[in-house]
Amino acid sequence: MEKDQLHKLKTFLATPRNIVIVPHRNPDGDAMGSTLALCEYFNNTNHTATVVAPNEYPEFLRWLPGSKNVILFDRQNKQAKRAINNSDIIFLLDFNALHRVGDDMANTLEVYENDFAMIDHHQQPDAVAAYLYSDTSICSTAQMVYHFLEMLQNTDAITKSMATCLYTGIMTDTGSFRFRSTTSTTHRIVADLIEKGAENDKIHGHVYDANSYNRLLLLGQALTNLKALPTYKTAFITLSEEEKKRFEYKKGDTEGVVNYALSLKDIVFAAIFIEDVEQKIIKISFRSKGSFSVNLFARNYFDGGGHINAAGGKSTKSLEETVAYFKSLLPRYKEALEKSYEE
Ligand code: 5GP
Ligand code: MN
Repeated sequence: MEKDQLHKLKTFLATPRNIVIVPHRNPDGDAMGSTLALCEYFNNTNHTATVVAPNEYPEFLRWLPGSKNVILFDRQNKQAKRAINNSDIIFLLDFNALHRVGDDMANTLEVYENDFAMIDHHQQPDAVAAYLYSDTSICSTAQMVYHFLEMLQNTDAITKSMATCLYTGIMTDTGSFRFRSTTSTTHRIVADLIEKGAENDKIHGHVYDANSYNRLLLLGQALTNLKALPTYKTAFITLSEEEKKRFEYKKGDTEGVVNYALSLKDIVFAAIFIEDVEQKIIKISFRSKGSFSVNLFARNYFDGGGHINAAGGKSTKSLEETVAYFKSLLPRYKEALEKSYEE
């Protein structure tokens, strides 16, 4: 964050404020971990803070400290709007453009009269925030919240529950500390979070060893549908609405499934196409290894975006047509995919 913005924000926060903190729609571990940690911090330092999430977050995050107090914009609409209208500032965490909260909530935020503060690590943030802390090189928004507390010279205020939330955000956005974005600084921060009470084994257990029987069977179906295109170092997975129904799909059940496609030897580009009859779209997740930018690919062809190596998008065509379109795009990237990740 620029010096004068930080100075202004510090002055603003010197008075007790009503604060609303917002993650993106379909919040993941980083979105929930970073918002809940910042929310507790503000509540412990004389402010009144509330997390207002656009919609429900997955079951494997419902154990997160403070998550019971989250207000859901779609289900608790009146309460959510009241919190927003009574707030002196809104923090936008883990997303870069207002539409990422979904149309309904975006309409409310667009007419908001006070300032936004944005803390985010996605590419190309929209110019909506009076206070902007954007850094695409940082692995997670949770790590950025830790740095934000450093800027406020107040990491001593990190409690065990805040450390637990921040650890969860860093762990989930780094694929358990394995992506290239995981730096020595990340590990130093994680060490500090463990010292402050984060129980790494329990957090891993809550997030990764909480599968339902049906979720594993859905994964089995996804792996059955896996297709590899070695010529383009690409692999992809599809899941139809009928398959989701068969295994009693619940939100969050397909989280991380795309990584199985990327785990194939010599594959550098992976995608999962998930039919969503309710939203009338095919929701797509892209992952890559190395220099091939799935952010650009998602932006250019699938009305989406994200990071260089992890992005998402959507299509309004049928599942089959979407996959056919995807395959038709690959030849023009043959060379880029070949060169993306050289040992
Ligand atoms: P995931 O595939 O896990 O849903 O998302 C991967 C990354 O891409 C996340 O950082 C997420 O915020 C971003 N992302 C996912 N879907 C979209 C989308 O439709 N639009 C944009 N701009 N970003 C997305
Ligand atoms: Mn994130």
